[in-house]
Amino acid sequence: MPPPLTTHHSICRFCHAACAILVEVEDGVPRKVKGDPQNPVYRGYTCSRGRDLPAQHTHPDRLLHTQKRQADGSFESISSEQAMDEVAARVQQIVEKHGPRSVAIYIGTSSNQYVAAAAAGVGWLIANDSRMVFAASTIDQPGKHIANALHGRWLGGGYMYDEADTWMLIGTNPEVSMVATVSCANPARSMTEARKRGQKLIVVDPRKSDATRHADIHLQSRPGEDPTLLAGLIHVIIRDGLYDKDFVVSNTQGFERLADAVLDFTPGYAAQRAGIDEDDLVAAAMMFAGGTKAAAAAGTGPNMSPRGNLTEYLILCLNTLCGNWRREGEALPNPGVLMSPAKANAQAMSPRKGWGFGEKLRVRDLGNCAAGLPTAALAEEILLEGKGQIRALVCIGGNPVVAWPDQKLTLEALEKLELCVTLDIKMSATAKLSDYVIAPKLSLEVPGTTYQVEAPEQMWPGIGYSRAYGQYTPALIDPPNGSDVIEEWEFFYGLAKRQQLPLSLYPIRAEAGPLRAANKPLALDMRTKPTTEELLDLMFAGTRIPLSTLREREGGAVFDNGETLVAAKEPGWDGRLELAEPTMLGELVDVRDEDDKRARDDFPFRLISRRSRGVYNSAGRDLPNFSRKNTYNPSFMNPDDLQALNIEAGSVIQIESERGMIIGIAAEEKGLRRGVVSMAHAFGDAPERDKDFREIGSTTGRLIDNRKEFDPYSGIPRMSSIAVRIQKARDGVGSRESAPR
Ligand code: SF4
Repeated sequence: MPPPLTTHHSICRFCHAACAILVEVEDGVPRKVKGDPQNPVYRGYTCSRGRDLPAQHTHPDRLLHTQKRQADGSFESISSEQAMDEVAARVQQIVEKHGPRSVAIYIGTSSNQYVAAAAAGVGWLIANDSRMVFAASTIDQPGKHIANALHGRWLGGGYMYDEADTWMLIGTNPEVSMVATVSCANPARSMTEARKRGQKLIVVDPRKSDATRHADIHLQSRPGEDPTLLAGLIHVIIRDGLYDKDFVVSNTQGFERLADAVLDFTPGYAAQRAGIDEDDLVAAAMMFAGGTKAAAAAGTGPNMSPRGNLTEYLILCLNTLCGNWRREGEALPNPGVLMSPAKANAQAMSPRKGWGFGEKLRVRDLGNCAAGLPTAALAEEILLEGKGQIRALVCIGGNPVVAWPDQKLTLEALEKLELCVTLDIKMSATAKLSDYVIAPKLSLEVPGTTYQVEAPEQMWPGIGYSRAYGQYTPALIDPPNGSDVIEEWEFFYGLAKRQQLPLSLYPIRAEAGPLRAANKPLALDMRTKPTTEELLDLMFAGTRIPLSTLREREGGAVFDNGETLVAAKEPGWDGRLELAEPTMLGELVDVRDEDDKRARDDFPFRLISRRSRGVYNSAGRDLPNFSRKNTYNPSFMNPDDLQALNIEAGSVIQIESERGMIIGIAAEEKGLRRGVVSMAHAFGDAPERDKDFREIGSTTGRLIDNRKEFDPYSGIPRMSSIAVRIQKARDGVGSRESAPR
């Protein structure tokens, strides 16, 4: 008789969206995943990656044992206990010889979904007295954190997409990115429903994306001109008196200086520079200002382009000018579940420093900022010899070889490390350069919660759940028989124990908000190792809805137990939102002055980033749902551009920047603005695999120069809107015998 098939509720943790799923398990092996149709928030939604979870867990390439690099460069399996013994001893030696700063960690995006993975990693580093914590936050959207600091935050929070009458999306496609202000719980359905109930949507994007299908106005702007366009919108809103005067007078400072700063950004000028119709820009400004519950928000495109801080800052100014913040007496749609009880007042938290505090780096005068330490400077910190050089790196949930900008520099740095440890489920490009590759458990083998969706709520309008929803899942299955896999936090616990150090769980950034859970370090018992369930109890003690309640509500629930209203401004409160932060307005002057520098005859195209359905950054390219259709990252271009270059769709092309060259496969995209190449990032591998570009794609990070054009605070270089030239591949380039360099 075949073993019985059982179905269990769980949470998908392939990406940050935390979809509610039903998992069919047979004899301890996951067989099928589908969306939970009864779930009140996700309503049966999953994407192809979630449905590939069984394949991910049982994939033949999955690491089931920790790997150790041998003298000849090959890898051999060792036990996780032995790996922790050896890594702890080597870290100890490096710290004793070179000081704590010589050890760093990098936290990639895939770590966020696992219980305490990053928190334990940071805690372990701090126990070693090092502060060298680097994360994807400074190469993704650092401008969000910096702008929030410089503008100040509204403690009543912003509006959610599901309740809004007007919304603006700038360089983001929520159906694929699963974030960026449209609820991550089934964004396509949310957008269709919003459209039906009459929501007005403005989309700013050089390409016709899934989001533009729902748009009333699509501003198909030139890449890299988002600050110009936003300044133009603000110009119209101030010029025509469309802003919320009462809100501005009562809660902001710097209005006159902002008005002066955008004076030159007339709609004609801004539209001409952004390459859009002036009437459309004016119409967008009027539509946006006419909303009563509205917000504007940007995604990775504008943030990876130059001046991401300014873009995000102007977006906050736009939202504030229009009074797009929740007022006294309005109900909070989500007073929190796995958060401490809500406290929200209709008042501004004054600005704070966006940079210039904490750890300093030795390179390019960079240092800590509101988004963390600049990851784009980490390679140089490894390469630059002398006191303070980073010699040991632990990577959690990331694949720097294809994800970090400037691949050449990244490779040089990783090869120079005295100790490189990667926690990864596969022998990724980065794992292959590591001394130890720790094999971790996968999501269905560990408990989890929806906390990662809830946590950033109130930071930016629209992020998080628009209802008080939460879910807990136990571990559903055991790891495969005969395997030796551990959780990320257990690895750091094991290191700390061997080094006889105390370990606390630390938040990555201490950005306390009204609904944020406690941000204090949580000390772990070092005598008796806790279970992951005990860790969860520790992390979620004192939340609005007890974790024990979530454990009883299998499949997740909405906890609408009583309305929480935004309270009045506290007596004597004098916080104000800043509309005229001097550095940002100074950058706006620079934007106006740099107009003439835009034309680049030798590199006439702009390569913009995009996300690819079916993968999560560098993860998932080998899973069946994705690889059945495609395995590489096509180079999308407008058909007229292809014709002008005498390139046919499907041809092999060379994409060259000042920094490097990659091979692409041309693909037509009619809705893409001319002069633009659109490619997904984090594909490809190290250069020795370039010949496999038809199977694995190419790494756009190779086109990026970390040191040439970078933000002076977060260090993020120009990662989108990269100036490139395109040509048909020269004879031989792209053949299997000739790897492009
Ligand atoms: S959107 Fe993310 S969480 Fe949801 S099913 Fe897809 S991969 Fe899983």
